[in-house]
Amino acid sequence: DAAINRIAAGEVVERPASAVKELVENAIDAGAMRITIDVADGGKTLIRVTDDGCGIAGDDLPLALSRHATSKIDGSDLLNIHTFGFRGEALPSLGAVGRLNITSRVPGAAAFEINVEGGHVGDVRPAALNAGTVITLRDLFYATPARLKFLRTDRAESQAIGDVIKRLAMAEPFVRFELRDVSGDAPRTTFRAEAETGDMFDALHGRLATVLGREFADNSLKIDAEREGLHLTGYAALPTYSRGSAVAQYLFVNGRPVRDKLLVGALRGAYFDFLSRDRHPAAALFLDCDPTLVDVNVHPAKSEVRFRDPGLARGLIVSALRHALADAGH
Ligand code: ADP
Ligand code: MG
Repeated sequence: DAAINRIAAGEVVERPASAVKELVENAIDAGAMRITIDVADGGKTLIRVTDDGCGIAGDDLPLALSRHATSKIDGSDLLNIHTFGFRGEALPSLGAVGRLNITSRVPGAAAFEINVEGGHVGDVRPAALNAGTVITLRDLFYATPARLKFLRTDRAESQAIGDVIKRLAMAEPFVRFELRDVSGDAPRTTFRAEAETGDMFDALHGRLATVLGREFADNSLKIDAEREGLHLTGYAALPTYSRGSAVAQYLFVNGRPVRDKLLVGALRGAYFDFLSRDRHPAAALFLDCDPTLVDVNVHPAKSEVRFRDPGLARGLIVSALRHALADAGH
């Protein structure tokens, strides 16, 4: 029923940034190479994600909006997760907490759209669109003023959206991202990352220069190590390029941005001999492993992970970074 749906939806969509995360992850899963995100008023009045991915067929639009419908796994495969989305929760949740429009086109067919408001799904109608998908979410939490009150200032919510986009941009260096603030009548681009080229390390290095700054890119060590089925790649800063806080420490597990204390602890261990307690190395590290070795399905909205063997992951990070630092003469 509608109330239960709204409560469930609140688990997935806590704030505008969580809506943006779900929509952009869907665009990535759809194979998009260009993703544009427009937001107004910190995402409270408007979030629009435009992609050039595979699109959704008109017949499938109502299905995409039904709870637990996902085109990405068949149910028997819950541990074998390679895409971002796997629960079929996001679109129905967004349709329960705001005014949602999905306009989409698959190659070789006409474009269609569908509207959802307060959980009520409208009819599929013909629409105009060249390719890909445009999903517009207006007036987030308009039906639940209590939740609206918990949102922070437009500025703070915009900042949280920017953080989400930057993390996803680091995870997908071959994809072009553009974030625009369309509040008022002068839209402005607040973040842009052009598609990177070359091999994975070239692309990542270029993308990190865009997201974390040229100085980080020029003062970081390439990391490439493997142990017992865990593969670690990425870049970590030289001790000379450290920061006063740990905010520039990014971990991705099987392509997903995660927040986990494991990384902070491992970096602390690796740089112990080189940095005082109040200095923190910047790093963007990617841990890849068989999906059965890690559980990313801990909570729908929180980016937590649970490793089957956390000591192994920590040990790999510490030893890989220490080796890279030693090779660089430290
Ligand atoms: P999930 O991502 O867990 O499958 P969602 O509710 O996020 O669930 O999306 C439901 C379905 O809608 C997806 O499985 C996918 O088939 C389709 N979909 C959503 N967004 C897009 C998009 N931008 N491009 C193509 N298909 C999409
Ligand atoms: Mg999804």
